[in-house]
Amino acid sequence: MPMLISLILVIIGVTTLSEGVRLFEEGKSQTALLYLSVTVFAFGFVMFSITRARRGYAIPFMTPSKVMSVVRCAQCSFKQIKNFAIGEFVLKAVGNCTQCGNPALFINEIYAEDIKKR
Ligand SMILES: [Zn+2]
Repeated sequence: MPMLISLILVIIGVTTLSEGVRLFEEGKSQTALLYLSVTVFAFGFVMFSITRARRGYAIPFMTPSKVMSVVRCAQCSFKQIKNFAIGEFVLKAVGNCTQCGNPALFINEIYAEDIKKR
């Protein structure tokens, strides 16, 4: 959920809360309850979206993984596993082979390695 909607809902929640309290003090409990139910709904919705977003973001942090790139040579059997660098993609040419000298090195595979398994 976009931040703006959360912000608007918080403003609605605060406004209806203060209005609800004011109406209660004036003895208009029926209208006050209507306002307060809007408050509960608004805050409840924001809380729900925050906890859902946290759970979503928590997954990459909870399971630390290292991204590896497998570099292979198309001409010989050379194969190397190295750390993934930003901008790399599968089948990208990465230069000359250190074993046979041909400009045939390419990224064969990119995968995430789970650190906890080591
Ligand atoms: Zn080679």
